[in-house]
Amino acid sequence: MVTGSCLCGNVKYEISGEVGDIVHCHCKTCRKAHGSAFSSIAGVKDSDFKLVGDVKLGCYESSPGKNRYFCPNCATQIYAKKDGTKHIVLRLGSLDDDLKSKELNHIWVSQKANWYTLNSNLPEYLEFE
Ligand SMILES: [Zn+2]
Ligand SMILES: [Zn+2]
Repeated sequence: MVTGSCLCGNVKYEISGEVGDIVHCHCKTCRKAHGSAFSSIAGVKDSDFKLVGDVKLGCYESSPGKNRYFCPNCATQIYAKKDGTKHIVLRLGSLDDDLKSKELNHIWVSQKANWYTLNSNLPEYLEFE
C-alpha cells in the first residue's frame, strides 16, 4: 500500500497495486499546472486507486479529453486522466510514501524550460516516448 495526500490534508488516497515506472514530463501544461520545471508522474490502474473519505476533486480539462484533478481547497495536483483509459496518471509530488518504481525517462523535452538544466542519465524524448 502506498498513500498520498494534498498540501492541506483535505484529499487522501491509497494505492493497493503497482505504481508504474516514473516519467518526468516537461510539457508546457504540466509546467503551468504544477508551477514547476517539470512534473513527475506514473500510471496507476483505476481499480488500484482509492480516495479516502467523501472528498470531491476539482477538475480542469487542460487539453481535449485530458482532465487534471486537484484538491479544490489547496490546489495540489493529484492525478490526470485521459478519456477512455483504465488508468490514472498519478502526480508523484503528492505521495507520502517512498516508491519502489524505477525512473524511466524525461518526456516533452522540446517544451522544457530554458532555465532548467537537464542533467540526468535517463533517456530524453522531445515529445511523448
Ligand atoms: Zn488540499
Ligand atoms: Zn506533461
